[in-house]
Amino acid sequence: MFTAQTIADISPFALAAAVGLMLALESLSPLVPLLPGKPRARHALKNLSIALCTSVFAVSGNFALVAVAMWGTHRGYGLLNLFDTPWLLRFAVALAGLDFFEWIRHRLHHRVPLLWRLHRVHHTDPHVDSTTALRGHPLESVIAYSFFSLLVLAFGIDPLALALRSLVAAVALAWHHADFRMPARLDALISLVTPTPRTHRLHHSRNIRFTDSNYGTIFTWWDRLLGTFSPGDSQEPGKTGLEGFDSPEQQSLLGVLRSPLLDIKHDAR
Ligand SMILES: [Zn+2]
Repeated sequence: MFTAQTIADISPFALAAAVGLMLALESLSPLVPLLPGKPRARHALKNLSIALCTSVFAVSGNFALVAVAMWGTHRGYGLLNLFDTPWLLRFAVALAGLDFFEWIRHRLHHRVPLLWRLHRVHHTDPHVDSTTALRGHPLESVIAYSFFSLLVLAFGIDPLALALRSLVAAVALAWHHADFRMPARLDALISLVTPTPRTHRLHHSRNIRFTDSNYGTIFTWWDRLLGTFSPGDSQEPGKTGLEGFDSPEQQSLLGVLRSPLLDIKHDAR
């Protein structure tokens, strides 16, 4: 029997499984030429090793988040618990409401210089594929779960709805980071709802005009409503990564973890 806690506990592993599935998909129709054999494996191992450091916080963060939701719901805290709210509406708030706040958090990580220093670890990947979804600084994970805990209490998010939302977000992250090409019309259709690998690749562009666009995780609606959606100039993806972070030292595990301390001005931030 799946409970909210078990679903939440498997979310980080669901992300890993979804990444595995996307890695297979990437071989079928890559957006950019795939890295050849060994470099591709080395790239995946690098991102996996960063993920291993972050997973301590991701797994415990997921566990704590659902525990907070259980505690808050039991005590009747939060907006949704003021009313007799149907479960479907609770799930809709967990899915869309939390996605909107995740959009805000992501945007703040691009706008506030100190937060950008943590988030840019995700952007320093020179070759974006599904394993990039696993690449993030552990401290950004701590900030994200703390922020989400406050939201869960404020809205009175249902533990099961929260856990299911975490699963959907995990699959969405693996999907839109995938190095996968689709027919242009299908791509445009899907991106009416959720980010596609091509639109999210723009977010990883070295061109700052595109980096500061397409922040969405599950839905593209917030980007479209608030003017940060970019369809891109063409179907051709640009170069990804960040200028100034390409040296082997900076791309090493230690280099990546220490990179928030580096004072590199690669753009206007
Ligand atoms: Zn970003």
